[in-house]
Amino acid sequence: MTTLRAQGIHRAFRASGRPVRAVDGVDLSVSSGEIVGLVGESGCGKSTLARIMVGLDRPDQGEVWLDDRRFVRPDGSVERALRHEVQLVFQDPHASFDPRRTVGRSVGMPLRAAGVGRQGARKRVIELLEQVGLDPVLADRLPSTLSGGQLQRAAIARALAPEPAILVCDEPVASMDVSVRAQILNLLLDLRRERGIGILFVSHDLGVVRRIADRVAVMYLGRIVETGSSEAVWRLPRHPYTRSLAASIPTGSTSWRARGSVPRLEGEPPSAVDIPSGCRFHPRCPIAIDRCRVDDPVLRPFPPDVEVACHLAEQAGDVA
Ligand code: SF4
Repeated sequence: MTTLRAQGIHRAFRASGRPVRAVDGVDLSVSSGEIVGLVGESGCGKSTLARIMVGLDRPDQGEVWLDDRRFVRPDGSVERALRHEVQLVFQDPHASFDPRRTVGRSVGMPLRAAGVGRQGARKRVIELLEQVGLDPVLADRLPSTLSGGQLQRAAIARALAPEPAILVCDEPVASMDVSVRAQILNLLLDLRRERGIGILFVSHDLGVVRRIADRVAVMYLGRIVETGSSEAVWRLPRHPYTRSLAASIPTGSTSWRARGSVPRLEGEPPSAVDIPSGCRFHPRCPIAIDRCRVDDPVLRPFPPDVEVACHLAEQAGDVA
């Protein structure tokens, strides 16, 4: 089993001369054979974290490990020999393919880069396209002639070419209609089951994450505020932010939902330039108390496998 593990990741950018704390002290791991959902609103830092975990962006602090091998160092340099182990699938497949190259050539590029000959790469590309449910004739077509769903499958085939242990999928179904989305999610579930691949699935949609993830991490303004097994977090979301996200899922009955204990999520997330004092969720939290404005909560364990960063997380059990 291979585990990709981000430790103590911080990442800030500058906007109008001021630092934007996109990722603000995050630990996260995903192992082969499991699907971990990373969920949160747009701008919460989840895509930045995902890019750091595949070595496409550098952390300001922290490291990324593959088992006991350092993959991304604190100075941001990446261990090139490990790059093939972790592959990224982007949100927009049309933007991730060169429009002048055939799909087959793009899918085969990682193989050619690894020294595989032309014939061998072609044979492998055909196998990969078949594995993701595509007709191999599409190998000779340009990306613009494929549908979004077909091209996302081709993107997944390209990501599989180096035989990675871990796939990081950044909003891979965000722009797709319901039936195509279901097909891509089923494909990812098949890859996990049949190839034992680990998947970090990044999404703003807790409903999608709930459907496929074994574990979930909820991110708000650069921090993980709740994490645990998908089943436990869904059964009793303890953080008010998680409850608000979960309440937006139209299906599923739970005791906490039935008893009307769902806080309304007010307003837009504050800017990561001006992160609120204390609990960063307090300006939007319907149950905030005075302590929340000054005391920054840390993740605390709730057995068997949940961690929550909220001073009032115990109260969730009272209302469930
Ligand atoms: S610590 Fe306070 S403000 Fe933050 S989520 Fe919990 S109750 Fe709300």
